[in-house]
Amino acid sequence: MEILICQSCGLPFGKKSMGTNRDKTKNDEYCIGCFDKGEFTDHSLTMHKLEVKLVEMAEVHNEITLEEAQEVIKELPYLKRWHMSIM
Ligand SMILES: [Zn+2]
Repeated sequence: MEILICQSCGLPFGKKSMGTNRDKTKNDEYCIGCFDKGEFTDHSLTMHKLEVKLVEMAEVHNEITLEEAQEVIKELPYLKRWHMSIM
């Protein structure tokens, strides 16, 4: 299975979890949790909010390890969605 990295939340996702474009085609840059029908599901999302969410995923929900969370957080500024906002 091909693993893609979401350019918004930084988490890996598979083909089944691809975001969707307005014309219902698949978007391989973003996961469905971030990008649905051609737009971001959460317009108020910021890089800081994502950092908090990732740490919560690790510490509260045990979905990922804290090391994984920190790895993703380090990569966030380089992702497509956030890259532009810091320039
Ligand atoms: Zn995502």
